[in-house]
Amino acid sequence: MSLDGAYDHDNIFARILRGEMPSARVFEDDHVYAFMDAFPLGRGHTLVIPKHSTARNLLEEAPETLAPLILGVQRVARAMRAALTPDGVMIFQTNGEAAGQTVFHLHFHLVPRWDGEPPLGRHGGGKMADMEELKALAAQIAAKIT
Ligand code: AMP
Repeated sequence: MSLDGAYDHDNIFARILRGEMPSARVFEDDHVYAFMDAFPLGRGHTLVIPKHSTARNLLEEAPETLAPLILGVQRVARAMRAALTPDGVMIFQTNGEAAGQTVFHLHFHLVPRWDGEPPLGRHGGGKMADMEELKALAAQIAAKIT
């Protein structure tokens, strides 16, 4: 899918938001939902998405949705730092297939990084993580949300 197109109400994140698909929830408020990436790039890989949005990417998003979304990203990143004590946190976001986007509901990736780790590979291509392990990590991060 290119940057142009219509929002698919049955995309995987819309289904997660409707509770039709399982997810390892880290945090939610009125605006954002944070959960563990099921095919993580590394330990603690978390996604933050807007709850009430049909923007497929950042370019389409309304300012009033973006503001609480990025605040949610910062909040989760701080909790991730406190919970997992990484040396860095990589935050990235994809727009269009050419940029590596595979799920067309706006989302931010938060990936904790430790000194000495090899460079990140392509995201979404790894193996599916164990849900119980993801839930344990989600609980660790959730416990540090302030
Ligand atoms: P992107 O490729 O930037 O659109 O990112 C989509 C992300 O969603 C990838 O990192 C996938 O691993 C992740 N993903 C796909 N399906 C699920 C799912 N059911 N639960 C959690 N994460 C998912």
